Amino acid sequence: MNIKNYINGQFQNPEKDEWLDNYCPANGEIYGQIPNSSKTDVEKAYKAAKMAFPTWSQTTLDKRSRILIKISELLETNLQRFAEAESKDNGKPVSLAKTIDIPRAASNFRFFGNAITQFASESHESVGQQAINFTLRQPIGVVGCISPWNLPLYLFTWKIAPALASGNCVVAKPSEITPMTAYLLGEICNEAGLPEGVLNIVHGLGTSTGQAIIEHPNIKAISFTGGTATGAHIAKVAAPMFKKLSLELGGKNPNIIFADCDYENMLATTVNSSFANQGQICLCGSRIFIEESIYEKFKTDFVQKVKSLKVGHPSDDSTQIGALVSKPHIEKVKQYIQIAKEEEGKILCGGNSISIKNYENGYYLEPTVIEVPNDECRVNQEEIFGPVVTIMPFKTEEEVLQMANKVKYGLSATLWTNDLKRTMRLSNQLQTGIVWVNTWMMRDLRTPFGGMKASGVGREGGFEALRFFTEAKNVCIKY
Ligand code: NDP
Repeated sequence: MNIKNYINGQFQNPEKDEWLDNYCPANGEIYGQIPNSSKTDVEKAYKAAKMAFPTWSQTTLDKRSRILIKISELLETNLQRFAEAESKDNGKPVSLAKTIDIPRAASNFRFFGNAITQFASESHESVGQQAINFTLRQPIGVVGCISPWNLPLYLFTWKIAPALASGNCVVAKPSEITPMTAYLLGEICNEAGLPEGVLNIVHGLGTSTGQAIIEHPNIKAISFTGGTATGAHIAKVAAPMFKKLSLELGGKNPNIIFADCDYENMLATTVNSSFANQGQICLCGSRIFIEESIYEKFKTDFVQKVKSLKVGHPSDDSTQIGALVSKPHIEKVKQYIQIAKEEEGKILCGGNSISIKNYENGYYLEPTVIEVPNDECRVNQEEIFGPVVTIMPFKTEEEVLQMANKVKYGLSATLWTNDLKRTMRLSNQLQTGIVWVNTWMMRDLRTPFGGMKASGVGREGGFEALRFFTEAKNVCIKY
């Protein structure tokens, strides 16, 4: 199936008529083409957005809200179709796309459709000076949203929904590796009555199409989720142009397990936090630290559970782990397994590609558990972003805190303990944007979301996102 750009409410071929192949990770075959959009296409998208902005930014909150909620409802109506498309494009199980990705994309629109009606700004009376200040929160204008391949529609809409809710017009680019549901979203936006040009979706390579968005002089804010190296590049390009930037980047998240935890709950959740979405979630707990006294028990139980996970074709209902997203990506992950062996890591289970009958060219990999000799080895420091976790024991709280913080990343941490004082001590000292205690990936869309250190700059979610997508202007009235 060939997909097109969505510009000014219409589906359009790229100006230069250049196309890229789109692969299905489950069988390794090309199943369609996507536009290899140029600067000219981005300029067309920008012009459409610019034209739409005066009206959209003045559209009442009630109307904007109703359109966003309508998009949400239509996503729910089309759940099966979107879930199948997401799975085919990305390799994730259809069951996962159906329960997580697409429902969350719908929630993103519903949440921000509602949130904008509750968003308020501050006022400050300058006592004794007969003046009052109030803050006007105005949309920025045309903004750019760029998202990765791991949670395609989920993360794409997590940016677009608050941008639109707060009155901006958008030029957006999904990952070239997983463009399908972003394409389908255009149809839904038209059906929901989103005016032409308010949202424009341009497909193509990061280094050309994405680059044209970030260096466009009049796209004044960039919301980006992706790798840390790309984030650094975007910052370099955008900073001298004084663009507003929100960067959600990589992670190497610690999962810290104390002996006093609720063991069974911890074990089941840890399997999930290690391998959900083939381990391709920025929040996966890829470094597992276990208190010494339960280390051997955990190791046996965890490996047994991991070995029983079913790797299979994404559309098979019993599949728990589908295909990795692309050939280069599975090669990268396998290289890290090789590095682990060279670093004297012990492969406790997994480590090999799997051949699935009738889909022999798909990108399947066994879930892999590596026992590492120390926390400083490369597989414990670098983001692998696949179905690979490391495990190692720790003796004291101080020791594990130090190891947890000794990476360049700082996105999330998971803590398993029933000791409240310890929970508070560690929550205060962990250098991450999110700390989950006795749970993982439990999300409330009102909370600030983002990372410290090399995991990013800024926060998304709730009013933080609406603040990002608006300019604060102080108005001071002397009376
Ligand atoms: P990339 O950084 O490679 O790509 C992300 C997006 O940026 C893609 O749309 C890509 O396009 C685009 N892009 C690439 N180069 C440029 C450029 N020069 N200018 C503008 N856009 C560009 O990341 P991945 O897609 O490989 O995603 C995986 C990464 O994302 C992991 O590091 C993961 O941790 C991180 N991530 C972070 C999350 C968070 O919330 N902190 C959540 C999810 C993932 P194209 O794909 O077409 O090249």
